[in-house]
Amino acid sequence: MSAPAYLPFARPTLDDATIQGVAAVLRSGWIASGPQVAAFERALSEYFGGRPVRTLTSATAAIEVALQVCGVGPGDEVITSAQSFFTAPNMIIKVGAKPVFVDCDLATRNIDLAQTAAAITPATRAILPTHFAGLPVDMDGLYRLAREHRLRVIEDAALAIGSSWRGRRIGAFGDLVAFSFHPNKNMTAIEGGALVLNNADEAKLTEKLRFHGISRLADGTRDVDVAGGKFNLPDVNACVGLAQLARLDEFTAARRALAEHYFRSFHTDPPCVLPARGHPGDEAGHSWNMFAPLLPLGRMRITRRQFIDAMHARGIGIGISYEALHLSTLARRFGYHEGNFPNAERIARETITLPLFPTMTFADVERVCTAAAEIIAQSRL
Ligand SMILES: *Cc1c(COP(=O)(O)O)cnc(C)c1O
Repeated sequence: MSAPAYLPFARPTLDDATIQGVAAVLRSGWIASGPQVAAFERALSEYFGGRPVRTLTSATAAIEVALQVCGVGPGDEVITSAQSFFTAPNMIIKVGAKPVFVDCDLATRNIDLAQTAAAITPATRAILPTHFAGLPVDMDGLYRLAREHRLRVIEDAALAIGSSWRGRRIGAFGDLVAFSFHPNKNMTAIEGGALVLNNADEAKLTEKLRFHGISRLADGTRDVDVAGGKFNLPDVNACVGLAQLARLDEFTAARRALAEHYFRSFHTDPPCVLPARGHPGDEAGHSWNMFAPLLPLGRMRITRRQFIDAMHARGIGIGISYEALHLSTLARRFGYHEGNFPNAERIARETITLPLFPTMTFADVERVCTAAAEIIAQSRL
């Protein structure tokens, strides 16, 4: 009997038509930003209810540009969650501002809005929350707070394409919203990102900031009035993104069904802390990029590393999302230390990301659940 195939924790779904589309773009001779980017941006704008959208090479680029669009720089503070990917603090620091961390909620893993309110100072310019794993932040509370204090909001929606809040798509409302098309996200463009903006002026500024700061003059020459970067998406990537966007609803439905099967099938003794199912009454708004329980490490004889290695030995890939951002070497230079944010720190210690991608089967889910239950039972204290 042969061993079952290796099950990674994430895998993109790329069909033959997409692969042939890429070949056609390569043969067309136009492979940098061109007609495919224009078409992808039109399709994204339509998806987000007509709001202006500009593509970039990543969500990280989109968040850097978003901070610049908001005019965030030296002397400014930006409030962000201690539980997320490294992008938010990195880009806040890169534009010269100060990251101000607050804890997250243990169940949703999203930014704690009461702590956010308490962290606002006269130097605060923006709030930069993440929709963890595709579960939206409380959008009513977030935007009420931003309005009250006249703050900009930059949503890290890297994991949240396909998510919605009370029936409205994440990205179709709000302030600036950044998406990622990295292969582990709900749709991919190989690498890529998009920024949803409020108006034509912000879109124009984004075009400059993603391409050398260049504006074109009437006489055919160019001028630069802002130090832009080089973040324009190639047409090959846009072509993949367009094909993926057409299948996004199907991918999201598959992810939801698999997440439901995890809730039916994932039972361990001692129990793990399971992820939040969604906001009560609005469960359909979760797009399930990840299924990430917390291990009962206090009642296990093995470490998380050993659990992950044991799963790997059974052919199952496990991810970790995320480390506690305030405990990085870089963040500690701003004075942060252990004990600042207990929820973020506990999640950082105990979280595991189980395999979840649209082409997985219910049998794959059961294989993961059986393996995890056995390893935890064997290591029980
Ligand atoms: C993946 C991810 C990013 C980074 O996206 P890129 O497109 O790779 O830059 C940022 N934030 C979160 C929450 C992510 O999951």
